[in-house]
Amino acid sequence: MSQIKLVSDRCAGCGECIAACPYNAVALENGLPVFSGACNLCGACVEACPSGAIERLAAAGKPAVDKASYRDIWVFAETRDGQPAKVVLQLLAAGRSLADQVGQQLCAVLIGDNPGGLAELLIAHGADRVLLAEHPALAACRDEPYTAVLARAVNQYRPSIILFGATAAGRSLAPRLAARLRTGLTADCTGLEIDPVSGDLLQTRPAFGGNIMAAIVTPNHRPQLATVRPGVFKPLQYDRSRQGEVTRLAVSNGLLAARTEVLGFTAAGGESVSLEDATVIVAGGRGLGSAENFELVKELASLLGGAVGASRAAVDEGWISYAHQVGQTGKTVSPRLFIACGISGAIQHLVGMQGSEVIVAINKNPDAPIFKVATYGLVGDAATILKELIAQLRSGS
Ligand SMILES: Cc1cc2nc3c(=O)[nH]c(=O)nc-3n(C[C@H](O)[C@H](O)[C@H](O)COP(=O)(O)OP(=O)(O)OC[C@H]3O[C@@H](n4cnc5c(N)ncnc54)[C@H](O)[C@@H]3O)c2cc1C
Repeated sequence: MSQIKLVSDRCAGCGECIAACPYNAVALENGLPVFSGACNLCGACVEACPSGAIERLAAAGKPAVDKASYRDIWVFAETRDGQPAKVVLQLLAAGRSLADQVGQQLCAVLIGDNPGGLAELLIAHGADRVLLAEHPALAACRDEPYTAVLARAVNQYRPSIILFGATAAGRSLAPRLAARLRTGLTADCTGLEIDPVSGDLLQTRPAFGGNIMAAIVTPNHRPQLATVRPGVFKPLQYDRSRQGEVTRLAVSNGLLAARTEVLGFTAAGGESVSLEDATVIVAGGRGLGSAENFELVKELASLLGGAVGASRAAVDEGWISYAHQVGQTGKTVSPRLFIACGISGAIQHLVGMQGSEVIVAINKNPDAPIFKVATYGLVGDAATILKELIAQLRSGS
């Protein structure tokens, strides 16, 4: 935490800080600004002060973090049904590139009941080292013991960066761990880079409704924690020649305390759409005009052996369920082929699908933004073109 400090002999009492404060936390008393408890240390007054009389300082008594004492990049190796979650292999690819840039190790942290057999797979996908915590009580991912195990390992090894998949488990664990370690967390990243000057992790994520891509840094704390959306990075090729080491983490009973117990797993009912895993996605938007026309999207997807995607507008129209939504508040996908039918290409949609290998856009407006990211564009009525494509596929031509 920082503090706001007034250097009174520089202050001209101009009141610019009062105008700049979005929280009404500054008032003039005897010609000098005073800061109330409403101050949230945003620093707007520091920026606004024309005479440099307001400074933001590191909290008294708290030493600046010794960044050099933190090294290596960790990936939380979440498992599902005895296998690493797909996002783990994607994170290993991202982590490998970061680790190579800074000349440090990439470690996968594998926690569970006897998951050690997966270590080789994690190494073959880019890890230099696997930190392994095994215990029957760790069979299911429960926040309390997993956080305790991770926090203990962090205090022991002091990693610089920890990456989690933005999955239900990752989104639950990462903030707990960040709070435990009193460090920052950037959620739902869509890009990761190392700042060549500071060496800090630049964590890119959509902000302000997806209208800007914000690069977020954690300059004063370590480790730097991020959750990353599935589908953003592509896994590295499996390379069985890669060598790595496995280090066992001690799991004492003290780390296993938990107020929750897993009684069993029940698959969610309703539709199960594996958009993230699909190699072909046919997606529909408002331009289709009706639920009936949206059926054409489903038909083409089925003929191509693909999954059905949708823009938020199509979901809002009630033509398909939210599970199919692609975009900032839906799923991030990266199929080999994405066919966008009657979708305008709003930024909130694009962030979820622009990693697709080939994008075919069908839109009646030749200036629709979707064409800027499309590999191939078809200008015309989406329903007519879909019917033609379906007819041609059915006739085998
Ligand atoms: C915080 C926030 C989060 C959001 N998250 C998401 C998200 O996750 N996913 C998402 O998709 N959106 C999201 N949105 C909404 C997004 O901004 C757009 O409103 C939405 O993507 C538009 O959907 P659309 O392209 O289907 O509809 P429209 O923008 O209405 O576009 C319809 C398109 O169809 C074309 N068209 C019309 N008639 C025809 C026809 N007969 N044949 C062919 N083309 C035709 C039009 O030219 C137009 O380009 C979000 C918005 C906000 C503010």
